[in-house]
Amino acid sequence: MKNIKDFNLEELKEELKTIGERPYRAEQIFQWIYVEKVKSFEEMTNLSLDLRKRLEENYTMCNYRILRKLESVDGTKKYLFDVLDGNAIETVLMEYHHGKTICVSSQIGCKMGCKFCASTGIPFVRNLTPGEIVEQILAVEQDTNSQISNVVFMGIGEPFDNYENVMKAIKIMNHQKGLNIGARHISVSTSGVVPRIYDFAKEGFQCTLSISLHATSNEKRSSMMPVNRKYPIEGLMKACQEYIRLTNKRISFEYALAKENNDNLEDAKALVKLLKGMLCHVNLIPINKIENGIYTKSTNENIMKFRDYLNENGIVATIRRELGSDIDAACGQLRRKNLAE
Ligand code: SAH
Repeated sequence: MKNIKDFNLEELKEELKTIGERPYRAEQIFQWIYVEKVKSFEEMTNLSLDLRKRLEENYTMCNYRILRKLESVDGTKKYLFDVLDGNAIETVLMEYHHGKTICVSSQIGCKMGCKFCASTGIPFVRNLTPGEIVEQILAVEQDTNSQISNVVFMGIGEPFDNYENVMKAIKIMNHQKGLNIGARHISVSTSGVVPRIYDFAKEGFQCTLSISLHATSNEKRSSMMPVNRKYPIEGLMKACQEYIRLTNKRISFEYALAKENNDNLEDAKALVKLLKGMLCHVNLIPINKIENGIYTKSTNENIMKFRDYLNENGIVATIRRELGSDIDAACGQLRRKNLAE
């Protein structure tokens, strides 16, 4: 059965024509799903009983079942959802003073193999569909009875390895008659799939692009992130420059600090050299050690020194607050445990 949430409004209008319905019905259905946030066709009371029945026969609402929910002392919540085909995905909800941010997964598993990430070593299963990506937001909003204001594609998966579906999901999230989450409040994070950076630049979205950089030399970056062998730093930086030229938007570079690996003054100097003059911001992430991982967290002193060096040398850098580490919901910690149990 087709998932009704896989369609954006325009597509839903076309889809309804195929079952002999007028396009304005699509707007009503969209409103029920994304504004009223109902969980069944039955609740769409301004549609005729006959239409509700036909919708039920032809489409699924794809309501996730919560398999597990963990809550951190800092208020961060981690959900394990049953995506209705025997697989499970994780979604994290974080509370900041400026609102609620959801960290969504884009794939079941990941092919990138970053050495510091908990998704590595777990088999890749499949891409999530647009509706399955969006459902993470609806399920969390329904569970917490609240509205989510920010979305980051920083859960499991490489968004640019599931490009079409991620773009469609963004359109549904962003639609004024849908979830109405401003594009400026949506961030897409990539390990550096270069051709898709060029594509993304042409989409005309106001979303933030985050690049997981983590190292400044090809040797070191390849040792941490195998994707760098296919798309080395020179080509990655060229794509970033082109992105900035076309969109006039600031790029956010993620840099996870690992002790005695990429966290000393020489690394900071090389990072300044690489990013000097670019419209960008650096997000420093204290690396989270994963089970059997070779990388461990830098000392607080080193992290602060690294940040200060960047700031003193013209690169705006902030340290990302760690949320949810007690429930394994911090960066790179998702999923491994559930599969082991
Ligand atoms: N595949 C995408 C998005 C998912 S990961 C990407 O690579 O960007 C989101 C962010 O968390 C990335 O910057 C990733 O490099 C980082 N990350 C992964 N594992 C981590 C860990 N153990 N400690 C700190 N950051 C980690």
